[in-house]
Amino acid sequence: PGEGIAMRLEGKVALITGAGSGIGRATANRFAAEGASIVASDISEVAAVETVAAIRESGGEARAVSGDVADYSDARAMVQAAIDAYGKLDVLVNSAGISTRNALPEGASHEDIWDKVMDVNLKGTYLVSWHAVPEMEAAGGGSIINLASIMALVGYPVGMGGGFNPYNASKGGVLQFTRNLAIDMAPKHIRVNCICPGYVETNMTRALTENAESYEALKGRHPMGRLGQPADIANAALFLASDEAAFVTGAPLIVDGGYTAQ
Ligand code: NAD
Repeated sequence: PGEGIAMRLEGKVALITGAGSGIGRATANRFAAEGASIVASDISEVAAVETVAAIRESGGEARAVSGDVADYSDARAMVQAAIDAYGKLDVLVNSAGISTRNALPEGASHEDIWDKVMDVNLKGTYLVSWHAVPEMEAAGGGSIINLASIMALVGYPVGMGGGFNPYNASKGGVLQFTRNLAIDMAPKHIRVNCICPGYVETNMTRALTENAESYEALKGRHPMGRLGQPADIANAALFLASDEAAFVTGAPLIVDGGYTAQ
């Protein structure tokens, strides 16, 4: 940045879950470029370390921590890593998540897939937030950003097999959890918001984007004629994390190229 232009997250400490890939990784990169110190957490240690290495190469500040967001003590350890490394926690981005497609290996039962998707997407968001809140209170405030989805707002189109799909239920849960936590935490100056992305080109959607037919069909469902890029979502997260969003709490920020406007 040029002289006199303040970086938007200067002095802030941000914990990002799922930071080893996709939206979480792009958010870690963007936040670091805006001056935040990053704790990049992922269930894949290798992926988290890769994210950190790239940030450091660009002159940013970051540490890696591995763990499962759906595990109580792992979730605590992620928050503790921020305190140990940087002495406080200002921002949490809950980006760790799985789709039904990649929840469990082929042949897993419907019930096991339901449990797994709910565990990671909903319980994981709850647990890391649960551990982060006291630290944010101690810091005098903070910002929690959850990754919901357009699938928290609408269902799958006819014929897409959404009925027994736990993904939308998990993301609807994330949206309602966001609202209630936001109300509770407002007097404590902790803002809680969620982002509802349309389809974004990441590992999560790779099976759909690799196939030319489904890729074209998906693009067609977004009025802007394209899928989102991880940076589109990272930019929205940056706004919610920054002091520019000082009066924004309990909000679903829709970033979907017009998908849900139809
Ligand atoms: P991704 O698969 O590229 O990245 C998800 C990351 O989360 C991976 O690095 C994975 O290792 C990690 N992860 C998975 N389970 C974990 C666990 N139990 N504990 C810790 N880390 C775990 O996916 P993405 O597209 O970047 O998705 C990020 C978030 O955005 C998810 O919550 C997803 O549901 C949501 N989202 C994605 C899209 C999309 O189209 N890609 C759309 C809307 C919402």
